[in-house]
Amino acid sequence: MDNQSAPQKPRSKKPRKSYRKPKRQEDASQNKPESGAVWSIDDFQVAEVEGKVRFHDLNLPDRVLKSISEMSFEYCSEIQAATLPETLQGYDLIGQAQTGTGKTAAFLIAMISDFIDYPIEEERDSRLARGLIIAPTRELALQIADDAVKLTANSDINVVSLVGGLSYEKQKQTLETERVDIVVATPGRLMDFARNKKVLLNKVEALVLDEADRMLSMGFIPDVKSIIRMTPHKEKRQTMLFSATFPKDIQNLARQWTYFPKEVSVVPEETTNKNIEQVIYSVEADQKWPVLESLIKEKDNQRTIIFANRRDETRDLYERLKDAGVNCAMLSGEVSQDKRVKTLANFKNGRIQVLVATDVAGRGIHVDGIELVVNYSLPEDPEDYVHRIGRTGRGGESGKSVSFASEDDAFMVPEIEKVVGEKIRCEYVSNN
Ligand code: AMP
Repeated sequence: MDNQSAPQKPRSKKPRKSYRKPKRQEDASQNKPESGAVWSIDDFQVAEVEGKVRFHDLNLPDRVLKSISEMSFEYCSEIQAATLPETLQGYDLIGQAQTGTGKTAAFLIAMISDFIDYPIEEERDSRLARGLIIAPTRELALQIADDAVKLTANSDINVVSLVGGLSYEKQKQTLETERVDIVVATPGRLMDFARNKKVLLNKVEALVLDEADRMLSMGFIPDVKSIIRMTPHKEKRQTMLFSATFPKDIQNLARQWTYFPKEVSVVPEETTNKNIEQVIYSVEADQKWPVLESLIKEKDNQRTIIFANRRDETRDLYERLKDAGVNCAMLSGEVSQDKRVKTLANFKNGRIQVLVATDVAGRGIHVDGIELVVNYSLPEDPEDYVHRIGRTGRGGESGKSVSFASEDDAFMVPEIEKVVGEKIRCEYVSNN
């Protein structure tokens, strides 16, 4: 990312301050939890450790700290420590970070703290959104909404998710009955509701664009542009844009949409996680299935994701695994959204052991404890390799990835090695 030549200065909060209260009027100790016990910051003891930033050190509202303690977070992740001091002051942000870094909590904590510190006192149209988060896939949007609900649990901030593939009617009803404070949305569905004025974006104070590179590759940029035009001018909103990669197009859009942004990057040098043991199995195409079957059976009870390149390949694998008695499910574009949400929940709670997924469906799966990622076919885009294997080795745990390379896709290996910045160990699977 190039540095913006203009001087860095905070975006003034003046234009929207007139109706706001001064900072820190609230106190979570007034919030009596169900048990009747009163919560205080003393209940959230975290030792000071050199080199680590505690959430206590950031002057966050107690209500946010309480939610953070309920989520069992203690210290800021790198992206949180690098961005929160800036975003909490109202700076715009261009952040380079992948999933697994804690970027979701990074932007949510900034947004929610601001809304708690500056509550809106006046009567206002319940359709007016204060915060808007746009994500490219339903899975990602729903996971962000999940975290947003947890982080707002001790406040009266309401979170609404507007995502494609789930019931339009239900979401419409929610908009008609609930106050919209924070909207988490995918672009298409949001466009529908915004055009019909079921949700109003002209008073948005904070805008988050998550996985901007994916939005670009999935063709969402025209929709996103229209949506952004419905929000206040960039000087009058806080914009936080995240992307794992910054090709020229994304750099240009990021610059267009933000106002004197701070730029933060937490991509590790080697791009992929050190905790992931990567291996390539060099196989003949007709060996892939028997090798996979024995691998899965050998790794009995390990939480595993298998990636395939196409829907039909995904279905075929899923059926073969099921026939082989493996406890598995499929996540691809042909699976209804309801089913996908249930499948993910069952994968998270351990009822399903193996998930067969395409890149789009598998993207943004934030499930901890995935022990093995299998690339049944190598992805066409080497960046997808990084995203795929990044499903494992999260949160400091160790993980393993096994990639099959046959005569059809072995030519991809050097490209992939370039992106991951290292040579990947290769094992030859013999034919007998
Ligand atoms: P994300 O990169 O937003 O997908 O977050 C990855 C995972 O890290 C999620 O399971 C979060 O709940 C978790 N997480 C985020 N921030 C923290 C933190 N400060 N401490 C511990 N876990 C965290």
